[in-house]
Amino acid sequence: MKNQILILGGGLTGLSAGYVLSKSGFDIAVFESESAVGGLSKTIEKNGFRFDLGGHRFFTTDEKTDRFVRELMSGELLSVSRSSKIYLRNKFFDYPLNPANAIFGLGIPVTARIITDYSYEKLKGLFKAKENISLEDWVVSNFGRTMFDIYFKEYSEKVWGIDCRRISAEWVAQRIKGLSLSKAVKNAFFKFSGKDLPTLADRFVYPQLGIGRISERLKEEIEQKNKVFTDTAVEQINHYNNMIESIVVRDHAGLREVCSKELISSMPLTKMVGMMNPAPPARIMEAASKLKFRDLVVMAIMVNRKRVTDQTWIYIPEKKIPFGRIHEPTNWSGKMAPEGKTIIVMEFFSFKGDNIWNQTDEKLTDITIEHLETLGFIRKDEVIDSVVIRAAKAYPLFEVGYKEKCDEIYDYLKRFGNLHIAGRSGMFRYYNMDHAIESGISTAEKIINKGEYVIKQQDDFTEPVLAGN
Ligand SMILES: Cc1cc2nc3c(=O)[nH]c(=O)nc-3n(C[C@H](O)[C@H](O)[C@H](O)COP(=O)(O)OP(=O)(O)OC[C@H]3O[C@@H](n4cnc5c(N)ncnc54)[C@H](O)[C@@H]3O)c2cc1C
Repeated sequence: MKNQILILGGGLTGLSAGYVLSKSGFDIAVFESESAVGGLSKTIEKNGFRFDLGGHRFFTTDEKTDRFVRELMSGELLSVSRSSKIYLRNKFFDYPLNPANAIFGLGIPVTARIITDYSYEKLKGLFKAKENISLEDWVVSNFGRTMFDIYFKEYSEKVWGIDCRRISAEWVAQRIKGLSLSKAVKNAFFKFSGKDLPTLADRFVYPQLGIGRISERLKEEIEQKNKVFTDTAVEQINHYNNMIESIVVRDHAGLREVCSKELISSMPLTKMVGMMNPAPPARIMEAASKLKFRDLVVMAIMVNRKRVTDQTWIYIPEKKIPFGRIHEPTNWSGKMAPEGKTIIVMEFFSFKGDNIWNQTDEKLTDITIEHLETLGFIRKDEVIDSVVIRAAKAYPLFEVGYKEKCDEIYDYLKRFGNLHIAGRSGMFRYYNMDHAIESGISTAEKIINKGEYVIKQQDDFTEPVLAGN
């Protein structure tokens, strides 16, 4: 079928593109290597317990994306209020920062140091503008050294697995654009939440049966006219004369070749580049080999109790506790566990092949329960069941210098007249779900309008640096 538009990856980006094209009457096919759609935004179900791969809140400032999701999910959405804490020095602090809580929690001397450091950085900035190359540079100049040491350093290094001096400032400046200590404090005092600082918005939207429902709904709609092939991994992308001609996929029946009119790739950029046949020039392969992802191990513990916490997320910066974030899905929707029971989910940031990744499920479960007991959350005899999920390529890793490598790859891919890269993994960008959906929709519209091939740059990144999304 020479006229088909092929979509690689059945996450939110690929499915949103497929949905828009399908509704517009195009002949499309989506290929997803996993047995279920959703990618990073999927919900796992076991015996009536449900959990996302790290709690996923949907929030957007873009009206079109908001309408898209609300229409698709009609009747399934809840509006949830966000209440999060940071667990530090054996205490819980409000997140976003609440000045009174921070002052009494950290003590007057530390608070005085925070204010002095911050004022010093601001004063210094008046005389000499400093170039912020790393995450450390950026946070110190916007929040001061003490805030960096207490709130940012350990958590960021836990999330990324590398020193803050090696994490690119470009990423963090986009990610918490417009946020500084004075604005965070102002927000906490005057409750500007959600208006001038979307970073700190305190309500979000969530499907009753978990975030994965958005992808399931998109699949249902696409399948009214077209096909979403799960358990079907793309292995090769054939091109000739600057056009993608076909792909080779593997499913239960073996290998098959599928011809392509237009190709949308939302699978990881580095993986896609490695599948091109003939292979790209050595300098492009070299650039792709330097782009790394951070992986994630998700541990869900099912508990024989109605609730363990009353929080949306609990951030755990300290390295002595091996997981970085906890959430309790039943606080997001009561339907995430059977009546009278609950589930808590821990995120372990990891690199594929490291100690956490290679740990047996049994050992990881024991370690987790031990820590949860020490934190005072549960008792071992309350645990009903557990599940461990290993999610590879969860976060594009923004090491200093990543942008030049990305730009080199984008520049090379531009020559292919019918190739469109989109989404978080596909473009190696720190997209949230709303950006992924927007990226899928705009790629589909570009094809519908037969516009020029342009890699869209989105710059409205608004999540807080502690979010770890
Ligand atoms: C822990 C965590 C928490 C997050 N929390 C939030 C949140 O609260 N709010 C928010 O808005 N966003 C959140 N995000 C971000 C959100 O998950 C992503 O923005 C979104 O899921 C990206 O969708 P995507 O389709 O671009 O990429 P992906 O979900 O990565 O989809 C790519 C797809 O390609 C498939 N694929 C890979 N290789 C192949 C192959 N060879 N053949 C076929 N298919 C292949 C993959 O299986 C996958 O399904 C979070 C992310 C993480 C990791």
